[in-house]
Amino acid sequence: METKKITKVVIAGGGTAGWITAALLNKVLGKVLDITLIESAEIGTVGVGEASIPPILHLNGALGISEKEFIKATGATIKLGIEFENWRSQDHSYMHAFGEIGKDFPFCEFYHFWLKANQTQNAPDFWDFSLNYQAAKAHKFAHLKHIPNTQLAGLHYAYHFDATRYGEFLKELAQSRGVKRIEGKIESVNQCHQSGHVRSLLLKNGEQIDGDLFIDCTGLRALLIEQTLNTGFEDWSHWLPCDSAIAVQSESASDAIPYTRSIARDSGWQWQIPLQHRVGNGLVYSSRFLSDEAAKQQLLDNLPAKPLTEPRVIKFKTGRRLKQWHKNVVSVGLSSGFLEPLESTSIHLIQSAAIRLIKFFPHQGIKQSLVDEFNQQSKTEFERIRDFIILHYKLTERDDSAFWRFCKGMDIPCSLRKKIELFKTSGKLIREDDELFAEIAWQQVMIGQGLIAEDHHPLTDALSYEQLNELFSNLKTLINSTVEQLPTHNQFLEKVQN
Ligand SMILES: Cc1cc2nc3c(=O)[nH]c(=O)nc-3n(C[C@H](O)[C@H](O)[C@H](O)COP(=O)(O)OP(=O)(O)OC[C@H]3O[C@@H](n4cnc5c(N)ncnc54)[C@H](O)[C@@H]3O)c2cc1C
Repeated sequence: METKKITKVVIAGGGTAGWITAALLNKVLGKVLDITLIESAEIGTVGVGEASIPPILHLNGALGISEKEFIKATGATIKLGIEFENWRSQDHSYMHAFGEIGKDFPFCEFYHFWLKANQTQNAPDFWDFSLNYQAAKAHKFAHLKHIPNTQLAGLHYAYHFDATRYGEFLKELAQSRGVKRIEGKIESVNQCHQSGHVRSLLLKNGEQIDGDLFIDCTGLRALLIEQTLNTGFEDWSHWLPCDSAIAVQSESASDAIPYTRSIARDSGWQWQIPLQHRVGNGLVYSSRFLSDEAAKQQLLDNLPAKPLTEPRVIKFKTGRRLKQWHKNVVSVGLSSGFLEPLESTSIHLIQSAAIRLIKFFPHQGIKQSLVDEFNQQSKTEFERIRDFIILHYKLTERDDSAFWRFCKGMDIPCSLRKKIELFKTSGKLIREDDELFAEIAWQQVMIGQGLIAEDHHPLTDALSYEQLNELFSNLKTLINSTVEQLPTHNQFLEKVQN
């Protein structure tokens, strides 16, 4: 391994991945690193990626970005969860709401109490006990750490935002703090003959950019990690069959709602991401089951209001790079792999990879032990999220199209099969390896898709049905009265920007 001190970092690519990585690296290691980012207006960015998950609040916090400036700069709205419409069956919907549901007991999650009640005729809806769900459906929001006068969790949230504006915002921020930006197209890559390490990037205008460590943020092109180093790709399209998307922006038909809509269609699903100034729309589909032309028509037929842009097709392959870090190249963003946008996890994976790189930063030279640990953690993180996304497809009850029949019948990873089996037989879920999605997220998708556990925890039998009903009724009263007192989502957005 090379033991040369690493002081000059070159980031290839200026999409969301490039600028998040530049801003974070600069914030933490800016005093000891010289950071240069190269981007090409001629190539542009992928231009989508507008829904996030709650850890984005930590990213903004770490970068010193206030909520007010972020919401103003990016036309952002609040996201309390994702509503899945027609996923289990036509005309059925459920939500993966962020935050807690009900009240957990020591050794036993609330879900088991609900499960016991579910055996009776007048079982309540699981989401009656989700503050996030009730607030989302009432179009309400405020900052709320706890339900007032209780220990019960308040609202957990993320944002919807304009991807282009977010990129511009991060670019200004990083540059104002010392990141150098070079506009230009990378035409070739110089490597060391012996080690294969990247030495410099040659731009179209003849300029040569040298570096010690290169971060590949060139998106689906993966210019350094794949086109140069041939690192290899693990293809997951047999489990995640969608390989295409059409994106189009539209006017808003009504006030922005505080949740993402994911609407299952015949051969994929449609997203609706409400921003303050427009709606982001797209159809994710499998080209094996739907042509681009038919997909375009389907999307245009189902927009909430007039389109503002021309529909744009994006092709991708689900899977991950075999090594996210290889030699002196670390891939971050779409160049490292893609899991499709169903649970809005890509920007989080960028954030997480950039933080991991900072933790493992090879300032004294690249050591194989660092590289191996980084790669192992990245692999596990990708695989856990992959399983969670596959779950939505696999548990469908739909058999009205060839696409859904394929999803229902397809083989799934062993790790997911074990998780489903454990839940089905015992109601138990184990959060493994610090995985991103907690038990409550898995429970919602499993119940939402119609998988109800066959057994509940014995602790719940300590409560009679009368006591259970009282518990449920108290929780519902608390949640409903809390939601009633919240301002509307629009009132919140107006106030926070003043
Ligand atoms: C259909 C779809 C929907 C998505 N929705 C979501 C979502 O809701 N939430 C979410 O978290 N994520 C989502 N994502 C993922 C998200 O868009 C990306 O993770 C994010 O935008 C980061 O992209 P990137 O920066 O890796 O790549 P890009 O945006 O493609 O940026 C690549 C950069 O590299 C530069 N570049 C490439 N080649 C060269 C070259 N030769 N010379 C110089 N520069 C070069 C480009 O100019 C550009 O600046 C979605 C992705 C897709 C495909």
